[in-house]
Amino acid sequence: MNILDGKSLAKKIEKNLKKEIISFKLKPCLCVILVGDDDASKIYVNIKKKSCENVGIKSILYYLNENVTEEILVRLIKKINNDPLINGILIQLPLPKKINTRKILDLIDKNKDVDGLNSYNLMKILIGQENIIPCTPKGILRLLEEYNILLEGKNICIIGFSDIVGKPLATLCLNRGATVTVCHKKTINLKDHTLNSDIIMTAAGFPNLITEDMVKRDSIIIDIGINNINKKIVGDVDFEKVKFKCKYITPVPGGVGPMTVVALLENTIKLYKIQNEKIRI
Ligand code: NAD
Repeated sequence: MNILDGKSLAKKIEKNLKKEIISFKLKPCLCVILVGDDDASKIYVNIKKKSCENVGIKSILYYLNENVTEEILVRLIKKINNDPLINGILIQLPLPKKINTRKILDLIDKNKDVDGLNSYNLMKILIGQENIIPCTPKGILRLLEEYNILLEGKNICIIGFSDIVGKPLATLCLNRGATVTVCHKKTINLKDHTLNSDIIMTAAGFPNLITEDMVKRDSIIIDIGINNINKKIVGDVDFEKVKFKCKYITPVPGGVGPMTVVALLENTIKLYKIQNEKIRI
């Protein structure tokens, strides 16, 4: 068993980004909007803010009350879209249910869509013209690349089909020549699919979903899940038992999480360059 060490790789990438940013005339700037009082969202936003500071990206945070109207949020995004000093806009998800998340994500200027979640950027992935890739899938691809793990010809089982992770991840794997099976809550006999896979990528948010008997020997496991069990963060995989059976595995924490954050920094820099070179995507 080998650990896919996202934490170390993210640190290495951050170091390189920091060096690159020092040479920029103007500091890149990321704007993060958090609506409501969700504790986990606050933690994620603070991690992102700290990571920006570490590499020299300025971050602006808008904390909006849970009761904010869609109209106010729309006005704020339009204002930031037009601010030439802001390079990236991130809406911390989930938004409160009464707000139309798709409408809000699609309002973000595609040249400032740092999470790659507006319909334009998602569609670009679908037609194989990858530009701004959503942070979690981007981080996973970078981690696999670091360990020389090729996707071409592999059977990949992706569990979960959210717009943020599962759907773009499945398309990106297809674009790289993998044979992809996407499983979800309604999948009958998940084990049939996982046992037939060279790589399992799970983003269900369900602890111990993947057990030893569901994993083929020498397979590769990417655990995207984040579950808080008795104040301890665990993934979707029964790590302690599964790790002996697989060739590579991501730990939780320390695997996909740090790679997601560093992908956000990379996307911010990418958008900064696009805007400063006046290239439209
Ligand atoms: P989501 O919560 O919107 O949806 C979960 C998906 O998993 C659905 O498609 C559902 O059908 C499927 N699912 C749920 N339970 C299942 C089960 N028992 N069997 C099979 N499929 C099941 O998805 P999301 O927003 O992508 O989040 C998924 C998990 O990934 C959460 O734990 C989240 O915290 C985590 N996450 C981690 C990162 C990271 O950087 N590590 C980033 C994003 C999300």
